[in-house]
Amino acid sequence: MDVEEYRRRGKEMVDYIADYLQNIRSRRVFPNVQPGYMRELVPDSAPENGEPWEAIFGDIERVVMPGVTHWQSPYMHAYFPALNSFPSLLGDMLSDAVNCLGFTWASSPACTELETIVMDWLGKAIGLPKEFLHSDTSSGGGVIQSTCCEATFVALLAARTEAIRRVRQIRPDLDDSEINSRLVGYCSDQAHSSVEKAGLIGLVKLRLVQSDSHLSLRGEAFRAAVEADVADGLIPFFLCATLGTTGACAFDNLVELGPICHEENIWMHIDAAYAGAAFICPEYRVPYLQGVEYSQSFAFNPSKWLMVHFDCTAMWVKNSRALHRTFNVDPLYLRHEKSGDAIDYMHWQIPLSRRFRSLKLWFVMRSFGLKGLQKHIRHGIAMAREFEELLRGDAMFEIPAERILGMVVFRLAGENERTEMLLKQLNRSGLIHMVPASLHNLYIIRFTVTSQYTTLEDIRRDFNIIRTASKILLAEIK
Ligand code: PLP
Repeated sequence: MDVEEYRRRGKEMVDYIADYLQNIRSRRVFPNVQPGYMRELVPDSAPENGEPWEAIFGDIERVVMPGVTHWQSPYMHAYFPALNSFPSLLGDMLSDAVNCLGFTWASSPACTELETIVMDWLGKAIGLPKEFLHSDTSSGGGVIQSTCCEATFVALLAARTEAIRRVRQIRPDLDDSEINSRLVGYCSDQAHSSVEKAGLIGLVKLRLVQSDSHLSLRGEAFRAAVEADVADGLIPFFLCATLGTTGACAFDNLVELGPICHEENIWMHIDAAYAGAAFICPEYRVPYLQGVEYSQSFAFNPSKWLMVHFDCTAMWVKNSRALHRTFNVDPLYLRHEKSGDAIDYMHWQIPLSRRFRSLKLWFVMRSFGLKGLQKHIRHGIAMAREFEELLRGDAMFEIPAERILGMVVFRLAGENERTEMLLKQLNRSGLIHMVPASLHNLYIIRFTVTSQYTTLEDIRRDFNIIRTASKILLAEIK
């Protein structure tokens, strides 16, 4: 493909994408294919000779689209949102073309500098304390990671480094591996599985502390777990508090947890993967963000609800030196003449190479403005409220956890199996897509408003599909 053909094909692709997104309601949201479906549609080996673009382009609808789950569809209610937007798509188009790998400041100065600036913009926009900003005189700042799982792991590793350093000073008789074997981290029993995974691969014990009846991790339960571990000779070093749990979008109580972390020298990381975007609206910061000042690190995914498409996880730390101590290696080929406060983001993350992800975040923040982003978040929450009211108007349904943001959890009254059967039928229909969760052994369906284009009409349509399927199911099993 030469540059002239690229100009033409690129414009065709932009049109294809615009049509795809504009007409997405006409597609089955959940594909009707079986594992291995694609093998029959694609040859066993790569072609010897290059193929014409028409043939490649034609295979998008023939091969790819039949197996796509359409995450941008308003009928998609599974997981959490993974939204894109036109400014975001344009940002990545440019990033892909520049394709610089901004591991050090010198490897592409604009890549690093824009990231520090937009991470300060975003940190201010969601109300983070100034200690998390690059512009503050402390050693805090923001970095874009690939995923929230990775951010949790990075935080755990930095916390481990700091704990080992601290204990080594008071117990010089212990070596690093002995200290490591005594470290213990915590999260609630509602935390995302990535916290447990971080403990597994970080080779530290990780306790899942029981949440309260509102699925929130509270100070008393946390303190009891910490005290029991200290009595056993263990060293508490890390807490991952969740704001907006995956199962029910519940919030851990930072105001209670924070002071305990402060007293016990425990690094508090906040995983606000989905809910973090809502803090762009000041009304959601109280009470949910209160206590954030006790945390050492905070992460959320603009790639979920903020219309900056995957991948883009915003992570802030108060003490970037802890990251440096954790990830710093210094081969000659990566050294450069340092001046002033040039940041080398390779010391803030696990991989070396990194994409120019701040471009799409910058484009989105400028194009929507904070007011546009707030409007978008409030709209999603309003749509979830409408869905909740429809459920409440029908005695068939129970809502076992409070709805706070854009997700409603519900179930059919009675045995778990009923709700499980209902969900299977609904997903098989391809008309709507949702996933389950288990809340203290109660099987529930999660209904997340995902698309920025969801209308009241969409919500009513979805509710009617769910109600009709529920009525038929309950009549059948009577
Ligand atoms: N943390 C929470 C609370 C989540 O809900 C999720 C995913 O939805 C994650 C972490 C994982 O996010 P990521 O896919 O960015 O690793």
